[in-house]
Amino acid sequence: MGWKKWARTRSPWLFHAHCGGCNGCDIEVAAALTPRYDVERIGIVLTNNPRYADIMVVTGIVPKAMVPVIKRIYNQMTEPKGVVAVGACATTGGVFLRDDDNPTYTFGGPVDKIIPVDVYVPGCPPKPEAIIVGIAQCIQKALAKD
Ligand code: SF4
Repeated sequence: MGWKKWARTRSPWLFHAHCGGCNGCDIEVAAALTPRYDVERIGIVLTNNPRYADIMVVTGIVPKAMVPVIKRIYNQMTEPKGVVAVGACATTGGVFLRDDDNPTYTFGGPVDKIIPVDVYVPGCPPKPEAIIVGIAQCIQKALAKD
């Protein structure tokens, strides 16, 4: 294993993209970083610069206004990179999607219609444990490639 792969699989940096929704999922992502769960102790670090990020954690429905923004953020991340869609809003549209032909008027998602998604974490909101498992799965799926 090369040192770059060794480093990124043991200490992935996350970019949290909040894209609409009710903030419930954002609170759970923040909880995963607080001392009770403390993902930093296993090397997972939050960054506010997509160029440094290995994994993007996306929450919310992605309103139409955010579609070009999230594409730009994704393109700023260097390869290899992964995306985790957290919560019902990000994975399907959740309560904001009555049916495929009749979403709310601002709806631009779900996330996988805009950028590739590696891992889906269901729930409204998902627990921090589920988010941590999703990040671990994303490390294996997207960052452990040769
Ligand atoms: S999935 Fe539920 S908790 Fe998360 S942003 Fe949407 S409505 Fe809020």
